[in-house]
Order: sequence, then structure tokens, then C-alpha cells
Amino acid sequence: MYHNTSIEPSSDMNITPETLEKHIRYLVHKGYMFLKVSDLLNFTQPIKHIALTFDDGFEGNYTYLFEILKKYKVPATIYLTPEIQTIRALTPSQIQEMQASGLVEFGAHTMTHINLTKVDDDTAKKEIVESRKAVEKLTGVPCLTFAYPYGRYSDSHIEFVKNAGFTTAVTTKKRIVKFSRANPHELPRLSISGRINMVQFYLILSRGRYKL
Ligand SMILES: [Zn+2]
Repeated sequence: MYHNTSIEPSSDMNITPETLEKHIRYLVHKGYMFLKVSDLLNFTQPIKHIALTFDDGFEGNYTYLFEILKKYKVPATIYLTPEIQTIRALTPSQIQEMQASGLVEFGAHTMTHINLTKVDDDTAKKEIVESRKAVEKLTGVPCLTFAYPYGRYSDSHIEFVKNAGFTTAVTTKKRIVKFSRANPHELPRLSISGRINMVQFYLILSRGRYKL
């Protein structure tokens, strides 16, 4: 789980293109097969799979991430928040160009980046359903995957997400689980801060975390 890619200072929400490229080069070298999140459902071979995700829809993911994906010919999933006001977001034409490349899958992340656990069920359902429609309108293809903002959700939100037609949903639970044992609507992710070093990156990949 990443967020922005840009030349701004590294943080939990931003990784520099140089560091991200190091991560991707390492994963390619190690023989990982890169998949879009919704494609995880279709692959059961006993080989190492990885799905790169980028939340919120930062414009830096067009400027920098997209160039790296093209260079290494690897896919990624970007979770869009169509009405988010607090970030410099991807434009519709950038989204369409990335979609047309076949390298980027766009998922939904609610309309306004709302904490689902802080609103009533009707509002939560609307944020989930409307975001799927808005992303489909932007990309012209079915939107199959969802990310819970702030990793906050309840059992009823899982139901809303399923009923809206999403086949997978990702959380911020930092764990490594066998895909066959994971709930496809509650997939854990490994959080990658822009501030970690390569040793910490190896530890996260192998153990799910780098702190002892
Ligand atoms: Zn988010």
C-alpha cells in the first residue's frame, strides 16, 4: 500500500520515484508476478504474486508512478476518491490515458474519502455505490475493487461493498495471509512508508512488518 509518488519529501504518504523504482526493481529481480488487485482472484498457481496499490488518486501517480510502470511493464491498482478536495488529484484525461495503457486498474475509495464508521448506513452505502459509478464513468470499464478509507469499516460495510458489485476490497490490516484463506472483501495490505530503507522493505515483504 502506497499513496503518492512525487519529488516532495518522503513521508508515510509519499514516496520518491527513485525509491519506488528500487522497490519495483527488487520485486522484478526476485521473480514476483505483478497483478492488479481484482486479478488476484484468478491466479492460484504457487508462485509469488504482488499487487501494488496507490490510494486516493494523487496526480503524482501519473507524473512519476506511471512512467515507472511503463518502464518495467508492471501493473498497479489506484484507488480513486472522485470528490476528494484535499489533494492534487489525477485529472480525467490522465486517468483515461493510464486506463488505456492496460497497466493501471482503477478502484474506488468512496466519493469524499469518508470514514465509513462515522456516518449512518445510508450515507455509507451511497458513498460506496456512487464511487463505483463515478470511477466507471471515468474509465469506461467495470470498477471491481474497493479500498476502505482509513482502513475503517464494519461488517455491514463489507456487505454494502459486495452488494455494490465489487469483487475485492482492501483494508489497511498489515498482515500476510494465504490468498485462499483471505476474505476477498477484507484483504490485508503491507503499508510502505516513503521513509523506510531497503532493509526495512525486505523485512516488511517477508514478515509483514519491520519493527520487532
Ligand atoms: Zn485513502
